[in-house]
Amino acid sequence: MTDSGRLTVIAGPMFSGKSEELMRRVRRATIAGVDVLVVSHSLDTRSDISTITSHTGVNIPAVPLGDVASLAEAARQKDYDLIAIDEAQFFGPDLVPAVDELLRRGIDVIVEGLCVTFDGQPFEPLPSFMAVAEDVLRLTAVCTVCGKDAVFHQRLEQTESPLGSDSAKIAQAPAATLAATTIDASHIGGLDTYVARCRQHFTGAGHET
Ligand code: ADP
Ligand code: MG
Repeated sequence: MTDSGRLTVIAGPMFSGKSEELMRRVRRATIAGVDVLVVSHSLDTRSDISTITSHTGVNIPAVPLGDVASLAEAARQKDYDLIAIDEAQFFGPDLVPAVDELLRRGIDVIVEGLCVTFDGQPFEPLPSFMAVAEDVLRLTAVCTVCGKDAVFHQRLEQTESPLGSDSAKIAQAPAATLAATTIDASHIGGLDTYVARCRQHFTGAGHET
C-alpha cells in the first residue's frame, strides 16, 4: 500500500510572500530531484500565465489550469511526487476532494492561496485545507499605514495612494456587483488595486474604524 502524501498549506493575505515561499519550496524540491508539477490558475493573468510570479517579479514555470477536472487530468499524466498549487482559492471548494485524492495516491501537495477575502472574511477552500494539513504556514504582509503585521488586504480606489491614510476613499464596492468570494478576476491585482492592512487599519466592508 502506498503511503499517503503530506499536505502543506501556505496561506495569508495579498503581499504576504505566499508565492515567494511556494517558489522557494519548489526550487528546493527540484534540486532534490523531486518530480514537481507546478500549477497556476488560468484566471491569473497578471503576468505570463505559464509562470507563477511574485510581486517582486521573480517567476518559475507553471502549468495554467482552469478548473479542478483539468488539475486531476494533469496529475495523471506523470508519476509526480509533489504538486504545488498557486492561488488555490481560484479553484473553489471542489479543490478539497481533488487534493484529498492526490494525497491518498501518495502525492505530496502544497496548496498556496488567500485565506481571507478583500472584505475580511474566510476565503474557502484555504480554511478547510488549513484544518486538515500536516503543515500550515500562515503568513502576514506589512500594513501600508503603520508597518505592523497585516492579516488583511483591501481594495483601493484608483484615486487613493497605497500609503494614503484617507480611509474614506477605500473602495466599498457594491455587494451586488462584486462579491468577495466570486471566483473571477476581482481577486487579481497588485499594488495599484489592493493594499495590505493590519487589524486596526483594515476598513474593508463591515470593518470601518
Ligand atoms: P503573495 O503571493 O502573498 O501575494 P508575493 O510572494 O507575490 O506575495 O510577494 C511578496 C513580496 O511583495 C514581498 O517580498 C515584498 O517585496 C512585496 N511587497 C509589496 N508590498 C508589500 C506589503 N505591503 N507587505 C509585504 N510585502 C510587500
Ligand atoms: Mg501570490
